[in-house]
Amino acid sequence: MDDMRAMLESDAPEEGWIMGQGFEDMPKQAAEGLRPPPLRDDCFALPAGVDWTPVDEALEMLRARLHPVVGQEVLPIAASLGRVLSNDLKALRANPPEANTAVDGYGFAHAALGEGDQVMPLAEGRSAAGAPFDGAVPPGHAVRVLTGAALPGGVDTVILQEDVTLGDGAIAFRAGIKPGANTRKAGEDVEAGEVILEAGRVLTPADLALCAAVGVHEMPVYKRLKVAVISTGDELRDPGQAVENGQIFDANRPMLGGLIQRFGHDLIDMGRVPDDRAALQRTLDQAIEKADVILTSGGASAGDEDHVSALLNEAGAMAEWRIAVKPGRPLALGLWQGVPVFGLPGNPVAAMVCTLVFARPAMRLMAGGKWQEPQGFSLPAAFEKKKKPGRREYLRARVRDGQAEVFKSEGSGRISGLSWAEGLVELPDGAAHITPGTPVRYIPFSSFE
Ligand code: AMP
Ligand code: MG
Repeated sequence: MDDMRAMLESDAPEEGWIMGQGFEDMPKQAAEGLRPPPLRDDCFALPAGVDWTPVDEALEMLRARLHPVVGQEVLPIAASLGRVLSNDLKALRANPPEANTAVDGYGFAHAALGEGDQVMPLAEGRSAAGAPFDGAVPPGHAVRVLTGAALPGGVDTVILQEDVTLGDGAIAFRAGIKPGANTRKAGEDVEAGEVILEAGRVLTPADLALCAAVGVHEMPVYKRLKVAVISTGDELRDPGQAVENGQIFDANRPMLGGLIQRFGHDLIDMGRVPDDRAALQRTLDQAIEKADVILTSGGASAGDEDHVSALLNEAGAMAEWRIAVKPGRPLALGLWQGVPVFGLPGNPVAAMVCTLVFARPAMRLMAGGKWQEPQGFSLPAAFEKKKKPGRREYLRARVRDGQAEVFKSEGSGRISGLSWAEGLVELPDGAAHITPGTPVRYIPFSSFE
């Protein structure tokens, strides 16, 4: 217990948390109770005097200042899909654990083969998966083997059953088989003790197969990041409610909730609040009781009814991030009693782009994951566009016939274009003149998960 306290009180470097260093030998219960240190008060501060922060600089600041904010637990393999590993995992066993046959056929020692076509007597018995041959096969003899069976002693090569003629107690086959043919060596895939997966990895179905194969069954993972979503605006009504003139349905909350779930976090739906500072304050106070991170939409700029930025400003822990990006007005980033708040723009298109580009990698780090650049690729444009220098632009896009198409309108209120799109085209910060055929960077939405 004293060790634990010392660890919590120490100024352990953040990387220690990220890599799970020092926790390898800790008893399970102790590791589960552990909470990482809080974020620093100034983690969202921007350098003074900078007018519009380029996207890459803003991302670099998030990357440098954020760290995991969730505790850890140990789960069985089947429950760990999509979770973030908190420690490096090592193979407890090799894969394959022993040399075996990759096909159904006959095994023998290659060194005992003579010149030319072969006739070999068969040893009594066989080796099947899970039922190995007992003993060793004498040189010059072959034995029946079935896929996955351990190679019996005296066997290093297997001939495919389709390539032999089976006679009475013997097989015949043509010359030319190579030593070791149709076999798998012990540890040829993974050696025992090898690091198979690193801390920060988001576990995939294939990872679960790998862990199972090498004998790992207890998965050290971070607890899920709990993300509260709040919509703000007097004009908003919930889907299904009656609407009057001047009112619109809250489209951001279902969208942001969907993104949070896709990212593998726990969604905490805090509903919507009117443009009223006291109501918003109450909702933020409730949200920090339940959540590790808060996403709000609307009210994030500097207008009369922009209460998210006003409240965060009052709390003294806010930075208005004027990021040189389109779509996206200023992002309000701040801490509400130590809990990070991403004040997203109200426009659904801007809210989604800002979530994908900024909130997603930030939340991944806070969830214990690694910083992850979305993987895009270069495709010829199917459109023409003249772009001014000064800010990076994200266009709603999709791929058809190997070319990147963009939505017919760039209006940031056009929700149908978000739904039409299957990804984003990212245009660089500088000026650009795109004509059909110009290579552009396309990032599928799936790369943002
Ligand atoms: P705001 O950032 O609050 O000034 O909002 C910008 C625009 O986005 C306005 O047209 C709002 O009506 C709209 N808006 C804000 N929140 C939502 C929402 N949750 N769903 C749909 N539209 C929204
Ligand atoms: Mg508003």
